[in-house]
Amino acid sequence: MIKQIKKIFNFWKKVLKIRGWKPTIVLAEDLGESAAEVYTVDTSKEFTVLIDKNYNEDIKELNHNILHELIHVFLAPYVNYITDTLLFIKNNPNIKINYDKIFKQLKNREEKIVEKLTKILLEHINYT
Ligand SMILES: [Zn+2]
Repeated sequence: MIKQIKKIFNFWKKVLKIRGWKPTIVLAEDLGESAAEVYTVDTSKEFTVLIDKNYNEDIKELNHNILHELIHVFLAPYVNYITDTLLFIKNNPNIKINYDKIFKQLKNREEKIVEKLTKILLEHINYT
C-alpha cells in the first residue's frame, strides 16, 4: 500500500508544483472521522500526511484523499498567515474578537475550498 501511496502522492505533488517541502507519509489506523489528515509546519516547510489504511483500500478513494491533503499543503502558507494574523489580533487587548468562532469558520471554509478544488482537479486530470 505504501508504494501505491507514494506513486499517487508524487504524481499530485508534481501537478500542484509543491516543491521544497519535506513530506512524511504515515500509514495510520483509527483516525476517527477522517480518512486522511495532514499537519504542516510552514516555517520549516515540513508536513506529515496520515493515511488511514482502513478507509483507503479503494484506489479511487486513496487518490481523492491524497490530492485533498496535498491541496491543504498547497494552501498552508495562506491559511497559516491568516491564523497567525488572527492570533495577533486575539492577543491585542484593545480588540475583542471571538477567536474560536472565527478559527472554526476559517477551517470550515478551507475544508470546502479544498474539497471543491479536489473535485475540479480530479475531473480534469487523470492519475493513471
Ligand atoms: Zn481536509
